Amino acid sequence: MTRLQLHWQILIALVLAVLVGWVTDETTRLFGVRVYPFFEFFGTLFLNALKMVIVPLVVSSIIIGIAGVGNTRGLGRLGGKTLLFYMVTSFAAIVTGLVVVNLMAPGVVSADLSREILETIPSQSQEKLVAIGARDISDLSGVFISMVPPNVIAAAANGQLLGLIFFSLLYGFYLSRVGEPYASAQFTFWQGMMNIMMKITLLIMKFAPLGVFALVAKVIAGMDQSFLNEFAETLGMFFLTVLLALGIHALITLPLMLRFIGRVKPWRHFRAMAPALMTAFSTSSSSATLPMTIECVEKNAGVSNRISSFVLPLGATINMDGTALYECVVAMFIAQLYGLELGFVTQFTIVLIALLTSIGVAGVPSASLVAITIILSAIGLPLEAVGVIIAVDRILDMLRTTVNIFSDSTGAVIIARLEGEEEILTGEKTTA
Ligand code: ASP
Repeated sequence: MTRLQLHWQILIALVLAVLVGWVTDETTRLFGVRVYPFFEFFGTLFLNALKMVIVPLVVSSIIIGIAGVGNTRGLGRLGGKTLLFYMVTSFAAIVTGLVVVNLMAPGVVSADLSREILETIPSQSQEKLVAIGARDISDLSGVFISMVPPNVIAAAANGQLLGLIFFSLLYGFYLSRVGEPYASAQFTFWQGMMNIMMKITLLIMKFAPLGVFALVAKVIAGMDQSFLNEFAETLGMFFLTVLLALGIHALITLPLMLRFIGRVKPWRHFRAMAPALMTAFSTSSSSATLPMTIECVEKNAGVSNRISSFVLPLGATINMDGTALYECVVAMFIAQLYGLELGFVTQFTIVLIALLTSIGVAGVPSASLVAITIILSAIGLPLEAVGVIIAVDRILDMLRTTVNIFSDSTGAVIIARLEGEEEILTGEKTTA
């Protein structure tokens, strides 16, 4: 009997999770036992397993990748292309969000309704602000300071990927310059570690259907409906605006780039990336998905480790198209609710801060909310207004994280093609 391919298994798990989450809530019991803690248990187990491999996988794969690039010129070229690609796609995403939110105008509602919405939030927003760690515009530089970690072990322990990436890049660079016998001993050690981490990732992937089911069922079953029901129409329009903008970016802009710059078939890329995309959807974390992203890009899409090890960890932390787009739409939506007519300069400020913060925020659930408080403070709106979107944020987080991962993997494919790799998305490889 042929086994169902992994991406189908995960998709079935996802659909089942939505159904089960829909008919249950935090108190539902089956044979007298509450089901919600089971979702929590298996979901957390899966997330932990993914997080467990991140540090050793990222460090070893960057070191090997960079050591393999060899000369400084090759590295500079690769870095330049990667950063350019990431900037261009994030900018395109933000502009898409800006155009769609201006056209759909989800926050342009009657004065009475907007007053009612804005008055309903402050009651619950203070703890929310503390919980998400709201910042203001003066903290923007702090977002980037973590790039150079004062303590690399602490950076690893706290999941500060950007600092870890910086250190690993330097390590890999000098590994190829320390001379023998150190260079080959080091290379063998890190190569071995990377291979082992990839094998562990493959094992974790086998549990993805169960993990995805538990994570998604938990989110749906635990959804707080009250604010949502009260302002269903306005929040629904906001939801649709984000969905449409994300859809344009992921289903039109990025596939066009795959087709015309990468010269590969976009649907093959979707298929190759399916397990990682569904993991991104269920975990809402680019960082936690990273091991799966690397696995799918290398094994299914056929990109070399030299490219993927550099482009993907960097992408998971600095390239967040969905996040950047979302920040822009939310800031505009809130401004619309306040009845503000934003001029070109203010809209441009929003675009710029969305771009910068999407680079600086971590790939963890709800990271956008922190960035949004920075934008709100920059354009002079109260930070607690971010509470308006909390009710729908969790689901939108799943969607924007999926787009973030799709963009990273698109970057890996396109850059590999630009670097002359031929065997990419030829349709022959697929373990998914
Ligand atoms: N959850 C997103 C990610 O990990 C970040 C965000 O909140 O937008 O990519």
